[in-house]
Amino acid sequence: MKSLWQDAEVAPLMDGLALRVYTSRLLGRDKSLVLHGGGNTSVKLVERNRFDEEETILYVKGSGWDLETIEAPGFSPVRLDHVRRLAGLERLSDPEMVNELVTHVTRASAPTPSVETILHACIPHAYVDHTHADAVLAITNTPGGEARIRAIYGDSVIVIPYLMPGFDLAQAVAREIERQSSPRATGLVLLKHGIFSFGATAREAYERMIDLVDRAERYLSEQRAWDVVAPPSPALVEIEAPEIADLRRSISDAAGFPMIVRIRATAQTLGFARHPEVERLSQQGPATPDHVIRTKRTPMLGTDVAAFGQSYREYFDRHAPNARDHKTPLDPAPRMVLDPRFGLAAVGRTARDSQIVAELYEHTIDVILRADALERYEALPAQDIFDVEYWDLEQAKLRRSGAPPALTGEVAWVTGAASGIGKAAVASLLAAVLVLNPNATLTASAAATFTDVPESHPFFDEIEWLVAEGITTGFSDGTVPARRLG
Ligand SMILES: [Zn+2]
Repeated sequence: MKSLWQDAEVAPLMDGLALRVYTSRLLGRDKSLVLHGGGNTSVKLVERNRFDEEETILYVKGSGWDLETIEAPGFSPVRLDHVRRLAGLERLSDPEMVNELVTHVTRASAPTPSVETILHACIPHAYVDHTHADAVLAITNTPGGEARIRAIYGDSVIVIPYLMPGFDLAQAVAREIERQSSPRATGLVLLKHGIFSFGATAREAYERMIDLVDRAERYLSEQRAWDVVAPPSPALVEIEAPEIADLRRSISDAAGFPMIVRIRATAQTLGFARHPEVERLSQQGPATPDHVIRTKRTPMLGTDVAAFGQSYREYFDRHAPNARDHKTPLDPAPRMVLDPRFGLAAVGRTARDSQIVAELYEHTIDVILRADALERYEALPAQDIFDVEYWDLEQAKLRRSGAPPALTGEVAWVTGAASGIGKAAVASLLAAVLVLNPNATLTASAAATFTDVPESHPFFDEIEWLVAEGITTGFSDGTVPARRLG
């Protein structure tokens, strides 16, 4: 793993927050470090308040922002002294914690501070970076994970056993920083969750993250557990389109709303779905708990949606009574399907959601196979995953995305769309989607994606938007016949 820091890019960035934005984006660019809203970063800056007094402000990633695209307004400015005092309380419920954070930000328009804010406050360094690096997850999701981490890093990291994110984890981190403190420490490893690095400058914290993850990758390489692939399998899809449509219908019926199903038939996904031990490998759970809100705990094996729904309800009934407060079951439809005939099917309410699920699980497959090559994949117990899946603060992240716009999850099929009435039908559907979807802003694309859709094409902007949303990829020859747009 290499640092992406470039002096030429940094030169125009003057202040501490701009540098915080810069290295957060560097982390976000590497999908083996963070995926889709995963991970978070912060910086502590001394500022002058309205009374001209000095005050240290913790700028921490706001909920709903992605490290890859974060901007300065995506960081929430929280009063550091107050947050640090919170860590000293005997207990603090989740709603109380959120209330304390939200009422101690210094900008009214700031996003809700990350649920990890108290943890960031407890780390006594200016810059703090947190990722869910694939290599660290592969090592820690094994029975001997903790011993391996200590062998790799010695006292250069502080090791934290798994605890659910939030107040209790922040307190444990504060305690362990005292207990395991070493002048050589450059980060923390949270077993079966992820890794933190810290430093006095943006560059130091970022490059320590790269160094720590690089050491994990090299360790896996030395143990012949890095370049692992699923058993080779001919990349042949053995399912007909109508059967996939039936699967989509059954999943949508189980969910209670229309869902998009995206087939990913690659050498990796087909190899994994056809792995002789796919059941043992895939039915333990995710490599880091925050995937669960998008992926559910395990993929469905095969296409029996009713049986999956039944086992999901049993999972709920088994774990809900142990939760701190009353829980309402989520829909019992799968978000991932593994089947030897097509590899992976990723399920989401929108094309983009299904794309995210596919990427999360493709990384998870790598983590699982590496952990298994190293020793044996061993995920967190189901109760721990349940607690995150049904954690109010995680559910709030989903609720914030609001009610889905009309036509969400629907698929339109237009025949004879190359000209005449069919083409007009496609145009009006595109217009309807754009009008009904408040997030669908058309931005001018720098270059045409398809050879047959130049900038002068009447639907150039619409078609480029479809590409950006992952709704169409066109044909491999670089064209996008109108009939493929539905
Ligand atoms: Zn995390």
